[in-house]
Amino acid sequence: MKRSRSIKQIEKKPDLVWDVLIVGGGATGLGAGVDAASRGYSTLLLEQHDFAKGTSSRSTKLVHGGVRYLAQGDISLVLEALEERGLLRQNAPHLFKNLKFIIPSYDWWGGPFYAVGMKVYDMMSGKLDLGKSEYLSSDETMEAIPNLIKEDLKGGVVYHDGQFDDARLAVNLAQTINENGGFVCNYFRVTGLMKDAEGMVIGVKAQDMETDKMYKIRAKTVINATGVFVDEVLRMDKSSHRDTIVPSQGVHIVLDKSFLKGDYAIMIPKTSDGRVLFAVPWHGKVIVGTTDTPVKNPVLEPIAQDEEIDFILKTAADYLSKSPKRSDVLSVFAGLRPLAAPEKGKTETKEISRGHKISVSLSGLITVSGGKWTTYRKMGQDAIDKAILLGGLEKKPCVTHQMPIHGYVKNISRKGHLYVYGSDLPKILGLFEENQEWKDQIHPNLPYLKAEVIWAIRNEMARTVEDVLARRMRALFLDARTSVEMAETVAELMAKEMHQKYSWTKKQIKDYTKVAQAYILY
Ligand SMILES: Cc1cc2nc3c(=O)[nH]c(=O)nc-3n(C[C@H](O)[C@H](O)[C@H](O)COP(=O)(O)OP(=O)(O)OC[C@H]3O[C@@H](n4cnc5c(N)ncnc54)[C@H](O)[C@@H]3O)c2cc1C
Repeated sequence: MKRSRSIKQIEKKPDLVWDVLIVGGGATGLGAGVDAASRGYSTLLLEQHDFAKGTSSRSTKLVHGGVRYLAQGDISLVLEALEERGLLRQNAPHLFKNLKFIIPSYDWWGGPFYAVGMKVYDMMSGKLDLGKSEYLSSDETMEAIPNLIKEDLKGGVVYHDGQFDDARLAVNLAQTINENGGFVCNYFRVTGLMKDAEGMVIGVKAQDMETDKMYKIRAKTVINATGVFVDEVLRMDKSSHRDTIVPSQGVHIVLDKSFLKGDYAIMIPKTSDGRVLFAVPWHGKVIVGTTDTPVKNPVLEPIAQDEEIDFILKTAADYLSKSPKRSDVLSVFAGLRPLAAPEKGKTETKEISRGHKISVSLSGLITVSGGKWTTYRKMGQDAIDKAILLGGLEKKPCVTHQMPIHGYVKNISRKGHLYVYGSDLPKILGLFEENQEWKDQIHPNLPYLKAEVIWAIRNEMARTVEDVLARRMRALFLDARTSVEMAETVAELMAKEMHQKYSWTKKQIKDYTKVAQAYILY
């Protein structure tokens, strides 16, 4: 997967009319790209920054039906998500983990109430279930999570859901598009739409963000998959367009694993603000979150507010015997949910459905909004079904239900941290033969190796130090301070591999350090 190859393809045939052109390289766009390319349509996906730079690298990392949506009575959404959970487990086992969650109960009615609810959740999973839920006594609950607060604990309910690595899945989906004959390009921003005399969309104007060169690219169908930015693209179509998205900010903090001993995650079904809160073990640390705060203007790098951080710390302290403090936070990250504008009578963002919506403008522009990572495949399928109708494309069936995603390995061993590369792992180890030094760990606090930097540049379209440290490795999210200390080594390795000058290295370190400041608590 080479960026230069994608650009060559765009430049080689300026008159080429792509079957499907996708704007946005997050979960939604990548899902649509995999669907389109694997059905055999000529496919191009353009991402203004890096793949998953937006919301898709900032999730809670759960592949879930959504226990909360069950409580809200959104049965069809839960059923759809549970089926997709099962399909992701089958198609990307290298990135999917079957995780046990405990709902701790501190009152007499909570345990039986959630035990019944989780039986319904089990039943809805059908043959794609991950394991049965069960009720635990208080002693059994303490055994599973030794550092829960014991006082007044009545018991707990265990249930299963999936966990994944969001940004790594995004990279693997981009590779899957590539392997199915499609083209993807990061740092390529769509700046306008091209229209014919009748006002129908016939392509996009786009800018290579590395060279500033402008392009006109023609396509039979254009899919707007820009998450919280869909309204910006809709305004390229019609300047008077009014917002259809209500961005809602969710914040997570990352703590040392000693705050949540054992392999279980905790799910708090109703915090003081009525939300669900998770504490989830991930890559040797613990992620705790999230909040649900409406925001006015979408940005690529949202900032966690002090109130959100304090709320998470306080709620975690209500359940964990070791209360986390600001100084314990290794990283804090914020993401924006692209929620469809609220239905009548629903004023709070946590009440807005997480279902997806596909709309078609009078100009033929297809916009996919809402949804969640878990249902990315189905969203892609629905978007391409629409594109077939609108673009007059030859009808071909969706093939992604049973299609392995790049990196697929049937029986994955989770020893060490390199398992996320799945079938690519032997090739990464093979890099040691080229240069023994690449075996070295970059920093003693995190397990990442120099070889991973080289791999990310050569095969995963990493262009900047941030791409490597935030989304190929997950250092920024796991331990932001340490990641800053890694930046110099990563920049030097990249500069050598990419034949960049010293000034490039210096600028990369400076830019990365600036971005990482928002992930560090002082
Ligand atoms: C806090 C939080 C926790 C979540 N947890 C979970 C979870 O545990 N499980 C789950 O299933 N879901 C979860 N979700 C939901 C899930 O993360 C999102 O639904 C999903 O990532 C949205 O993907 P997207 O592609 O629509 O948007 P994005 O990931 O934001 O992608 C849109 C992309 O479009 C690009 N773009 C914008 N404008 C242009 C342009 N003009 N040209 C080119 N590119 C452009 C952006 O740079 C961006 O990369 C969570 C969401 C949040 C906020």
